[in-house]
Parts: sequence; structure tokens; C-alpha cells
Amino acid sequence: MRLGVFGGTFDPIHIGHLVAAQNAMHAAKLDRVLFIVANQPWQKEGTREVTDAHLRYLVVTQVLESIPGLDASDIEIRRGGLSYSVDTLIELNTAHPDYELFLVVGADAALQMPTWERAEELSRLARLVIVNRYGYPTIDNVLDFDEPILAEMPWLDISSTDLRERVRDHRPLQFLLPETAIDAIEVHSLYRGDEVIN
Ligand code: ATP
Ligand code: MG
Repeated sequence: MRLGVFGGTFDPIHIGHLVAAQNAMHAAKLDRVLFIVANQPWQKEGTREVTDAHLRYLVVTQVLESIPGLDASDIEIRRGGLSYSVDTLIELNTAHPDYELFLVVGADAALQMPTWERAEELSRLARLVIVNRYGYPTIDNVLDFDEPILAEMPWLDISSTDLRERVRDHRPLQFLLPETAIDAIEVHSLYRGDEVIN
């Protein structure tokens, strides 16, 4: 089993995530991609209110239900506390010693990786797949990863940050994220008063 490990806050999940995962799967010949929903994303500490992890996970699960090869994982929510990819890879490796793990990141996340918790351990736990992201250079020398796999996707200037601003400003969401996610935003009145906390 070649398993993609795609971490994120998914607040909310959008088309950029889905296209990134599909193209990572293609480029690295992955059997499946796990969307790992962060419990507490440490990068976002103190910057804004993150939606309840169980609700983000529920929406990701509902969206991925109908998409072959993509699965939602609550491994970081069950672990609790701050979410570090290194702990997730160790846990997956222990549970499935026979799987080959591929850490899937967008180019913006790839640039941040040297600041991640115990970053130096990552390259012995997984191979790296980098997907291009609008507005960021795609680097191919990350930490001491040996030949990261570069997955190409169409430039989609879609981010959860922009979608939250769209909700707040009553601008259209249609086609930028799955209908299921739009419905969940409506039902749970998410992002209405999203403000940056400093
Ligand atoms: P936010 O704006 O809140 O940071 P986001 O859109 O960046 O949200 P995340 O949950 O932070 O979404 O990202 C999860 C992963 O998906 C990261 O590796 C990120 O680089 C990747 N990703 C998100 N959107 C895109 C996109 N439009 N194109 C390529 N990769 C993406
Ligand atoms: Mg992000």
C-alpha cells in the first residue's frame, strides 16, 4: 500500500484540496490519500478562531464519502492537543509497518517544513510529494528529503482564508468548494463574523 498523508486544517475543505490530492495520487502512484484533519494546528495558534475539529472532520468525511481513493482521518483529533505531522507519521507507521507513506504538501507548506516540530525526523518516516500552489515557488530541496515527487495541478487560487472572507462578505462560494461543504457552512452558521485575533 502506497498511502498519501495529506494534513490540513480544512476550515473549510475546498476544491484546491481535492485537486491537489488527486494529482498527488497520480504523480506518486498512490493507492489512497488520507486527509488528516488537524486537531489544533499549531501554526494557527493565536491568529484566529479555528472551527471545532469534530465539525471540520464531519464535513471532510461527508465530502470524501463519494470520492474513490480519498479518505478522512481523525487520528490527530483522537490524539488531542497540538497536531504535529511527525507524530501522525510515527503513529501510522506503527499501525501499518508494511505501508509506504508519502507526505503530501502544497508548495506553501513545503516552504514552512523546516519550522515544523522535529522536522529532521520526517524524511525517515515518509517520502515527500509537493503540489504546486498559486502564489508560492515550488522548491524541490526540502530538509534532507531525497528527491521529492513534484505533482502538477492547474493553478487554483483558492484558499480556506479567502472562502471564510467570502462568507463574511456574502460573496459567492459556488464551485469553489463542494456543495456539501457549502451546506455545512450554512447549517452551522460558520465564518459569519470571522475576525483576526491578535
Ligand atoms: P488557510 O487559508 O486557512 O491556511 P488553506 O486553503 O491553505 O487554508 P489548509 O488546510 O491550510 O488549506 O491546507 C492543507 C494543505 O492543502 C496544505 O498542504 C496546502 O498547501 C494545500 N492546499 C490548500 N489549498 C491549495 C491549493 N489551492 N492548491 C494547492 N495546494 C493547496
Ligand atoms: Mg494553509
